[in-house]
Amino acid sequence: MRHGANSDWIRQMLGQAPPVEITSDCTNCVMVKPEGESIGAQFYFDPDVRCCTYEPALPNYIAGRILRDSDPERAAGRASLEARMARRVDTLPWGIRRSKRFDTLYGSNAALFGRAADLGCPHLTEGSLGCGIWPYRPGVCSTWYCKHDRGQTGHAFWNNLALLLREVELMMGAWCVAELHGGRAAMRQALNPEAGIPVSSDLGGEMDEKEYGKLWGNWAGKEAEFFQACAAKMDDIRWEDVERIGGVRMRTMADLTRTAFEKLLDMDVPQRLQAGPFRILASSRGKRTVETYSGFNPIKMPEALFRALPYFDGRPTAESIAEIRTKEKLRLQPALVRRLADFGILEEIDT
Ligand code: SF4
Repeated sequence: MRHGANSDWIRQMLGQAPPVEITSDCTNCVMVKPEGESIGAQFYFDPDVRCCTYEPALPNYIAGRILRDSDPERAAGRASLEARMARRVDTLPWGIRRSKRFDTLYGSNAALFGRAADLGCPHLTEGSLGCGIWPYRPGVCSTWYCKHDRGQTGHAFWNNLALLLREVELMMGAWCVAELHGGRAAMRQALNPEAGIPVSSDLGGEMDEKEYGKLWGNWAGKEAEFFQACAAKMDDIRWEDVERIGGVRMRTMADLTRTAFEKLLDMDVPQRLQAGPFRILASSRGKRTVETYSGFNPIKMPEALFRALPYFDGRPTAESIAEIRTKEKLRLQPALVRRLADFGILEEIDT
């Protein structure tokens, strides 16, 4: 379950498991400020919450998988889900939605991400990877990396996969409601589970029991059983079934994800390159720190390499490399040029 709750479907969709992002090491977070280092241009996370300043929605079938896992080692994860369910206000037949309280706070300032301890995920635990539901984490968690080994080439792939899995989770959660519940209020709500502005019960006010009963119908009071029935319903569902249920929108998103995956596997140096847009964050001791596709993943490069970038002006890459060798006395290896292209310091020109 390296890629969370949807691992099997991801493998079936791509024909293989996606690679591991080595630079983003969750067991030894690279976004936490090393001891003794001063805060400079680099953005650091709070060590207690890190990128888990989030509250993921869990569709019914994922919630059911967590609940039916009786492994004592996962007791904390189960308990954290049960605590979310006990609030009832976010417990819908579609699954457990993000709380309105979280959405209100989180949406107020993008700089809270990674830093606001009060926004720590309810599934954060001590030890292991810090996530109590790690094998069952949804797509939003399993596809997010602070750094990508292949820069924006990796980012583009994971971003496509994240959008696809969001669609999968919305659609398959709704499909379970249609198959096992069928109530009109539940179906209407399952089509857009995150909709609606906060009401008083979202922020500690009294629950509308009548509405809750209408939503859950015959399953009211048996929410955990419903979620486990949804998990059982998914046991034999393969990726081709997901695509069939999801229709043209799901198939299109899967195609885009496969195209991004092919690019991730392609290590060839692009035929023609030109310098791309980037921001210089710092210059010191003959090195420049530049930001391209993400503020979380700046890269450092020597001044000599920086001076060579204008030689990439859209002509064949081999010619640019040859002229750099002659005029700048710098030998650029293909792997380095590939890396510059991956990070967007050089941009491929379509021929
Ligand atoms: S579910 Fe796990 S991986 Fe996702 S935000 Fe929570 S603790 Fe982090």
